[in-house]
Amino acid sequence: MLMTLSCTACDNFDPADLGYLVHKHPDKVQTYSVAHGKVHVFYPEVSPQRCRLSMLLEIDPVGLVRRPGQGLDQYVNDRPYAASSFFAVAMNRVFREALLGRCKDRPQLVKQELDLEVQLSVVRCQPDYLRQLFLPLGYAVETINHALDPHLGWHQGPYHTVTLKGRCPLQQLLNHLYILLPVLDRQKHYYVDKDELEKLLLKGEGWLAQHPQKNSIVERYLKFRSGLTRDALARLQEDNADPERITLEADQAEEELEKPVRLHDLRLDRVTELLKESGFSHIADLGCGSGKLVSRLRKFRQFQRIQAVDVSYQALVMAKEKLRSEDARIELLHGSLLYRDSRLQGCQAVAMVEVIEHLDPPRLRACTKNLFAFLKPQLVIITTPNREYNQLFPNLNGGRLRHNDHRFEWTRCEFHAWAQETAGQHGYRVDFEDLGPADPIHGSPSQMGVFRR
Ligand code: SAH
Repeated sequence: MLMTLSCTACDNFDPADLGYLVHKHPDKVQTYSVAHGKVHVFYPEVSPQRCRLSMLLEIDPVGLVRRPGQGLDQYVNDRPYAASSFFAVAMNRVFREALLGRCKDRPQLVKQELDLEVQLSVVRCQPDYLRQLFLPLGYAVETINHALDPHLGWHQGPYHTVTLKGRCPLQQLLNHLYILLPVLDRQKHYYVDKDELEKLLLKGEGWLAQHPQKNSIVERYLKFRSGLTRDALARLQEDNADPERITLEADQAEEELEKPVRLHDLRLDRVTELLKESGFSHIADLGCGSGKLVSRLRKFRQFQRIQAVDVSYQALVMAKEKLRSEDARIELLHGSLLYRDSRLQGCQAVAMVEVIEHLDPPRLRACTKNLFAFLKPQLVIITTPNREYNQLFPNLNGGRLRHNDHRFEWTRCEFHAWAQETAGQHGYRVDFEDLGPADPIHGSPSQMGVFRR
C-alpha cells in the first residue's frame, strides 16, 4: 500500500518544511518495523514549488496468515495492498508527532493551512460513501476504479485509487485519514475495546461531532459494538453542545417559566440554609452558572472557601461580573464535572443546583463517581426538576422539558431510585425534600436530595 502526500508552496510556506512537520528529513529514506511488516518513508520530490512524501507499507502476507487471531485464513487477500487498519497503525508509527500536532522546531506550522494532496494507491470502497465521508470535510475527491480483469470484461471491482485535495493543516488531514481509512475498509485486525473509543474521540476532536456521517463513522470504526458506539455518540453529542449557549437564553427561558413561584430563589435560599446549618466552611458549587448561589454564600463568614466550577466560560464571566468586588474566599474554576478535579479535594460540602439534568445519562455515572468516590465530601445537595409538575406550567406544552439543554427530567420516583442507589453504592444516606408549593397529585416543581456520609 502506497500513500503519497504532496504540498505546494503557499503563503510563505516552503514545501521542504513538510520535513519538519512530519519529523522526517527530506534527504533520507527511513524504514520502520511494524507488527506485520515494514514501512518505508521517502521523498520522491523536493523542489521550491512542491514537496512529495511517500509512505510505503510492506506487509508480510505469510506472517499475517500464520499469526493467530487475525481472522485471515487465505494466503491470497488484499491486506498487503489495500488501505486498512494495518495502514492506520503504520501511520501512527510514522506520523505519531504530526498526528498529535507536535512540531518543536516550527510550532507555527502546526495550525497553518496548507495546499495538500494525498493519493492512496488502493482503497477498497464504494465511491459514493467515500465522497460522503470526505466532501463534508472540504476535500475534492477523485477516484479511479480498477477493473478486476479488463480482458475478461470484469469491471467495477471495489478497488480504487483515491486522490483527495484540500487546504487544511496537515494534522487535520492525517487525523481524517487515520479514522476514515479503517471506516471505509470495515475490517480491523485487532480487538476493538474502550481504548479504541478513546482513540476515535481524540483523533476525531474538532470535526467528528459535526460530521453528517457521524453515526456510520462511529459504528464502523468501533466495529458495530453497540455499547461502545452508544458511549461514543453520547460523548460526541456533549462535545457538540455549545456550553456558552446553555446558560444565556435557555436559563432565562427557564426562569421565566418558573417565575410565578420564584422557584429558583426558593431553591437557592433553601440550599444556603442547609449549608449554613451544616457548619462546614469549604464549599464547592458544581455547575455554578452565573454565580447565584455563590453570591448568597459570600454573605456569611462561616464560608471560608467557596469554589465555583462551570464548564461554560461565559457563565464564569457572568459570575465574575455578578460578584463584582474581589473576595479571596471565592475561586471561580473552569472545569467539567465529568473529570476528576483535584483542585476540589478537601471540600466538605458540595451543591449541585439544577445541574444533573444537563448531563447525558451515560455520563452521569462519571460525574457521580468523581463526586461520591473521589471527592467524598461530608454533604452533597442535589436539586433537579420534578417532571410530574411540568403539566401545571401554563406556558409549557405537555411533555416538553423546561430547558432546551435538559437531557432528562425525572419524576419523583425516578429521582429517588437513582439517589438511593447512588447513596447506597458509596456509603451515604439520602433524605429528600420537595421544593416549591406542592400540588396534591403532581408534587412540587422541584426536588432535592441531601446526601450525608
Ligand atoms: N447552579 C446554577 C446553574 C444551573 S444551570 C444555578 O442554580 O443557577 C446548569 C449549569 O451547569 C450551567 O451553567 C452549565 O454550564 C453547567 N454544566 C453543564 N454541564 C456541565 C459539566 N459537565 N461540568 C460543569 N458544569 C456543567
